[in-house]
Amino acid sequence: MRPSDGADACVIALDVGGTGMKGALLDREMRAQATMRFRTPRADGPDAVLRSIADALRELRDRAGERGLTVRRAGVVVPGIVSEATARAVYSANLGWRDLPLAELLEARCGLPVTLGHDVRAGGFAEAVLGAARGVRDVLFVAIGTGIAGALVQDGTPLSAGGHAGEIGHLVVAPDGPACGCGNRGCLETLASAAAVAARFTARSGREVDGARGVAQLLVRGDPDARAVWEDAAEALAVSFAAAATLLAPELIVVGGGLAEADELLLSAVRSRLDPRLPFQRRPALVRARLGDTAGCLGAGLYAWRAVDAGDRAGVRPGSP
Ligand SMILES: [Zn+2]
Repeated sequence: MRPSDGADACVIALDVGGTGMKGALLDREMRAQATMRFRTPRADGPDAVLRSIADALRELRDRAGERGLTVRRAGVVVPGIVSEATARAVYSANLGWRDLPLAELLEARCGLPVTLGHDVRAGGFAEAVLGAARGVRDVLFVAIGTGIAGALVQDGTPLSAGGHAGEIGHLVVAPDGPACGCGNRGCLETLASAAAVAARFTARSGREVDGARGVAQLLVRGDPDARAVWEDAAEALAVSFAAAATLLAPELIVVGGGLAEADELLLSAVRSRLDPRLPFQRRPALVRARLGDTAGCLGAGLYAWRAVDAGDRAGVRPGSP
């Protein structure tokens, strides 16, 4: 079934973020044989970012060669709107891309077959295969950071919908709420992202704070402004999760990213507000992500191995003409 999978086989996994890229060589058991980090030269424009991704893939391929490893394929995950089906980066405000045939461009530049994916969907898939949602078939993965992004795994498969699925951060939870970068008002991420929690605390109290983590510390000490902001965030998350539970009925909601580092403090506040909103729906368990900031890179590796297997089943080497 796996014709050229000796012990030396690996895939390249690369998670491209707005400031940096995390790369790894992953063997069949998903063990990292090497890891490398690279800078994303976002300020230099989309072409420079594309060049640097190709350079990163070549460096990882060279590293594999030095270690006597055979690279079967590369998995690359990027932010924005990504269509896995057409292997195109449809849109990224962060990296300046519009409708870029990214897998094809990278294949031409580095001579490796490339599978393209979305960073958060890949992270959610990794949590479903290797992390907090292992063995669970219906999962909502929510990454809370500067913004809020989501990924759905339905019946064991990441839901893409042409790259548009999972934008839970832009569910409107307060129609008259704060303006969102997307043009709407009162999106979930204007109330509950790590950046929003810190900014709202400062706007309300006039006090600077060390991010959402700082707000959490003040909350524990009984600070009333921290409590008010925290409760707004928990309420907004509960409203959004209830909508997701009603429409999609995930068994499990996995929360990752910076704000979730505040751990049970956040999850218990959301949990107590979520359950009363679900009188008849399947009630999802709410847990913390396990893979931390390696989830996207592991997801890229899983995508690559999945494509290798699909190619092997079809009797062709993936990437061959
Ligand atoms: Zn929005």
